[in-house]
Amino acid sequence: MSSQTATLAEAREAPRRDPSLVFAHSAMASMLQHGLAPTPANYLVWYSFHGGSEPGLRHAMEIVLAGSGKLAQAGMDELHAQFFDAEREAHSVHEMSQRLEGAVQEAVGLVAGARDAALRYGGSLQQASDGLADGPEGLGAVLQRLVAETREVTRRSDAAARRLTETARKTQELQAELVEARRQATTDPLTGLPNRRCFDEALRLGLDEAATMPVALIMIDVDHFKAVNDSYGHHVGDAVLRDLAKTLPLALAEGSLAARFGGEEFAVILRGPELRDAARTAEGIRTRIGNSSLLIKQTGQRISVTVSLGLAMAAAGEAAAHLIERADAALYEAKRGGRNRVCSDPPMPAAGAVWGR
Ligand code: GH3
Ligand code: MG
Ligand code: MG
Repeated sequence: MSSQTATLAEAREAPRRDPSLVFAHSAMASMLQHGLAPTPANYLVWYSFHGGSEPGLRHAMEIVLAGSGKLAQAGMDELHAQFFDAEREAHSVHEMSQRLEGAVQEAVGLVAGARDAALRYGGSLQQASDGLADGPEGLGAVLQRLVAETREVTRRSDAAARRLTETARKTQELQAELVEARRQATTDPLTGLPNRRCFDEALRLGLDEAATMPVALIMIDVDHFKAVNDSYGHHVGDAVLRDLAKTLPLALAEGSLAARFGGEEFAVILRGPELRDAARTAEGIRTRIGNSSLLIKQTGQRISVTVSLGLAMAAAGEAAAHLIERADAALYEAKRGGRNRVCSDPPMPAAGAVWGR
């Protein structure tokens, strides 16, 4: 097999082998099918649709496609703003978008070039066939021209296949950068938990569902954390927060979101539980954190912290800021009641508002 043939075969095989290339091809095909310009924003929306990385986006698009069957540019802009606003604000993502645009434009150019070459070749074949119909005299010249044309088309398509493979590789790299930039834009660097921005977005989406499914918010604040910093230093304080961030998700069921709200405060969004179950989860967080400790290797000391928690059940149609305010008020009550406890809004009917030790 010649190296040129190998390159062509590689180009054809690559999408079959690598799922991200399949998504990239599908995204390009969808943009063409819906008559959309190949912009980075459109590409990102369609890539995420085919890749299934954004279940909410996929769900929204499937509803539109099941209805009108067509996604116009206005709809694409809305989807992009709704699901990828965070990236738009991140500088690195903007820069990456520019490069992605270049790669997409290049791929579009290659596809257009290959199409033109195929059209020209088709024209040559037609001329050759017309020439043959006139009689056998010109047969040699016709065949010679066909051989030359075939060589030229093969040369061009081999070169196009190589460049297309390279463009696909570049697109893949940019895609990975996009995922990383997105992760950074939504992650708290100290603890690795989702950050405040991610929490705000998740709460907004969660509250959209609050009419049909219970949603609970738990605000968590480390007790007397200033004393940890004062006694052991800020560095150890940071380690305690990192350790707490590892322990916290262990107390949660799948589908819950734990985020760093800011400073020594954390927030948890629960989807589905009634008050009693949400309170049980909050209590589980409290005991897990209270029972765990961080070993300081240099001194052999173990540091343990407690947390106070405020739980609020979302009301249908309630604004995020209002729900946070109610959870904060419950947290304040837990602090005032002696710390290391859970308070809720509404209060638990039987045991009163407080679950303490
Ligand atoms: P309370 O039980 O009333 O919550 O007392 P507290 O000491 O935890 O509350 P206070 O608001 O007085 O102090 C919070 C401290 O948390 C002060 C601040 O320096 C510290 N802190 C906030 N963010 C960080 C961080 O990222 N790292 C470290 N080490 N400390 C932090
Ligand atoms: Mg605090
Ligand atoms: Mg505190």
